Amino acid sequence: MSDDIDQWGFDTRAVRAGQHRTNEGENSEPIFLTSSYVFKNAAEAAARFSGAEPGNIYSRFTNPTVRAFEERLAALEGGEKCVATASGMVAILSTCLALLKSGDHIVSSRNIFGASVLLFNNYLAKFGIETSYVSLTDYAAWEKAIKPNTKLLFLETPSNPLTEIADIARLAKIAHAKGCLLVVDNVFCTPVLQQPLKLGADIVIHSATKYLDGQGRCVGGAVIGNKELVGEKVYGFMRTCGPSLSPFNAWVFLKGLETLSLRVKAHSANALELAQWLEKQKRVKRVYYPGLASHPQHELAKKQQSGFGGIVSFELDGGKDAAWKLIDSTRVISITANLGDTKSTITHPATTTHGRLTPEQRAEAGISDGLIRISVGLEDLEDIKKDLAHGLS
Ligand SMILES: *Cc1c(COP(=O)(O)O)cnc(C)c1O
Repeated sequence: MSDDIDQWGFDTRAVRAGQHRTNEGENSEPIFLTSSYVFKNAAEAAARFSGAEPGNIYSRFTNPTVRAFEERLAALEGGEKCVATASGMVAILSTCLALLKSGDHIVSSRNIFGASVLLFNNYLAKFGIETSYVSLTDYAAWEKAIKPNTKLLFLETPSNPLTEIADIARLAKIAHAKGCLLVVDNVFCTPVLQQPLKLGADIVIHSATKYLDGQGRCVGGAVIGNKELVGEKVYGFMRTCGPSLSPFNAWVFLKGLETLSLRVKAHSANALELAQWLEKQKRVKRVYYPGLASHPQHELAKKQQSGFGGIVSFELDGGKDAAWKLIDSTRVISITANLGDTKSTITHPATTTHGRLTPEQRAEAGISDGLIRISVGLEDLEDIKKDLAHGLS
């Protein structure tokens, strides 16, 4: 890899960062499907194991294809280090288990991915790590919720599925004033639209399953941050506890990063047009999309993000029955909970992604029974509108 990486623009990094060409001279990055690595002799093996000499030992620790993905994603997020993981959920788990201990406290936005709430409430709580929830955009509530044992603030912006936007720089100041770390799940924006580390966040989380792959093929995740927090602590956890990413999946994500910028911009353009169209439909009560002037944090979204993303949610008149009817009437859009795919997908959050929350938790999070989430794909938008118009009439 060239030493010029610091001078490279975003798109050049997306295509070339992390490549270490072998003696074969390959232009596209190879996949190293190997679980372990051989040593020249017993002394080299001993030196690698003791840490006296750097180098590969075993693919739970390091793998060249996984490392290429990590270096490329770190370069895009502007972080010193990236640790790839087997899923987005285990990226969050690894961060918490590496950085927290029993007796510590997390303050989290209420409107986060459903499984993240379950991870905090059902699993971290078992080991004495408590979580308090606040409204994403209520900065006074964030400050008030911080206790002497609070170590970490956690959020997604835009949130899933209501696309609420939080001011990352403001929350970073609140966190740092109280000696806490700010962790941002950047799945919805990707580094193409928003780079939280540059706004003061300490750690960025990814589910690579979504836009980084971009074609709905593999499950994976990543943690990005500085050398100490991520390069040592999160990496140390990953290497010992083993939620490592498979080299094959890493290769799929690595190649996905090369087209990430083009795709995310195209998703955003399609989503904005769909959101504007949905706002004009009689049976649609409300549309949630940061690119709309009607969005409560539209101005902040314009300032903080370079685009508005591919996720549009809307509320239908008629509750669950109306929502299910519309979903079942589609012929083109895929009925699936995944997002960030070239294929448009449609989801009923109340009975799927947020179905395991109690009705009270859902109400608190603003997830009504008439709510539908669309991850807008790269099809002709006219075909997506037609697909929805059918069920909306
Ligand atoms: C999907 C998702 C996750 C979890 O990622 P997995 O790869 O499914 O484990 C976390 N946060 C957000 C915002 C997501 O969309």
